[in-house]
Amino acid sequence: MNTATALIHSIPVDPLTGAVSVPIYQTSTFVQEAPGVNQGYDYSRTNNPTRATLERLAAGLEKGSTGIAFASGLAAIDAIAKLLQSGDEIVAVDDIYGGAYRLFTQVYEKFGIKVHFTDTSNPENVFNAITPKTKLIWLESPTNPTLKISDIAAIAQIAKASDCLLCVDNTFATPALQQPLTLGADIVVHSATKYLGGHSDLIAGIVVTKDPELGARIKYLQNACGAILGPFDSWLVIRGIETLHLRIKQHCSAALEIARFLQTHPAVNQVYYPGLPEHPNHEVAKKQSHGFGGIVSFSLKNDTEAAAVSLVSNTALFKLAESLGGIKSLISHPANMTHKSIPAEKRRAAGVSDSLIRLSIGLEDAADLISDLQQVLDKQVNNNKHSIQQVSTTTI
Ligand SMILES: *Cc1c(COP(=O)(O)O)cnc(C)c1O
Repeated sequence: MNTATALIHSIPVDPLTGAVSVPIYQTSTFVQEAPGVNQGYDYSRTNNPTRATLERLAAGLEKGSTGIAFASGLAAIDAIAKLLQSGDEIVAVDDIYGGAYRLFTQVYEKFGIKVHFTDTSNPENVFNAITPKTKLIWLESPTNPTLKISDIAAIAQIAKASDCLLCVDNTFATPALQQPLTLGADIVVHSATKYLGGHSDLIAGIVVTKDPELGARIKYLQNACGAILGPFDSWLVIRGIETLHLRIKQHCSAALEIARFLQTHPAVNQVYYPGLPEHPNHEVAKKQSHGFGGIVSFSLKNDTEAAAVSLVSNTALFKLAESLGGIKSLISHPANMTHKSIPAEKRRAAGVSDSLIRLSIGLEDAADLISDLQQVLDKQVNNNKHSIQQVSTTTI
């Protein structure tokens, strides 16, 4: 059966009433027949039927055994970090999501957990960063905002040989394009805030494990620490997932068209999109995923913050905002937004140039999005000409 068909029919019809939409069990507690005798539910932090439906759905999507839903993507990442002990080490992708960077370095380092950051797009770097204390390897593929790709299967082999867990943050690719557990990873984590939710209307996180015992350990932490996803937000994520495959198809095809358009524009310096044959990891991306996602980044010939700020402030359809993965297209300037807290030299060394702009391609018509970008990029060319003329007249 086609995956989209299987997905739609894996969402159960309510056995009590026949409702085709999953009921929202907005309750804290459940009546017990006798102490400890219940219908599988006693308290909604521990377990809730709406959340349980989402957790089963997410596990199925990622081809794992156990799904565990959290109040945010960071709460999900936090639960995975809590598997570690003081003295353990993490090897992580160097252009990791900023919030995960903050969590690992500002919160967990003081509990004696050390993190080594490395460019995981070369698996050899991962191998070299591992020490006998390494317990967890942390990947994102594609990364944000330069869309680097790491070879998940190759790194899974290194993880296995070194007795480490491999966790992949699959937020950017989604299980519609890439299923890290089938490539050898042990854990997948999502900010469901992005493509799984898909409508920019909630904050949520999901963990899926391959091994049920590891799943039970994280489920234990979910209940013990308490950062659960509520019933209504669980329902919204289910509703989002119902259209995931359809949305991702459109995000991908529009993103490729837009990436190709950007390559042809004289104001653009470099285009970052794993679907372009020129992308340095294009072959790995092709091997491990069914598509290249809805995020496109590019830099300007006029590589200044001022040029990028002027561009991102003047689009009509692309809205200036952080986050990604929703139906409305978003534009952002990492140097001034998500990556502002990183010193300029360090940021540039990580490949995030002053003029780098990130697009989250929404569900609008691709031709409309292209003409929106065309009008702001044409202005850049005119501005450049203007400033060159000004320079030449002053020198005369
Ligand atoms: C947004 C994001 C997160 C954090 O998720 P929240 O839901 O905002 O807590 C983690 N990883 C990636 C790749 C993200 O884009």
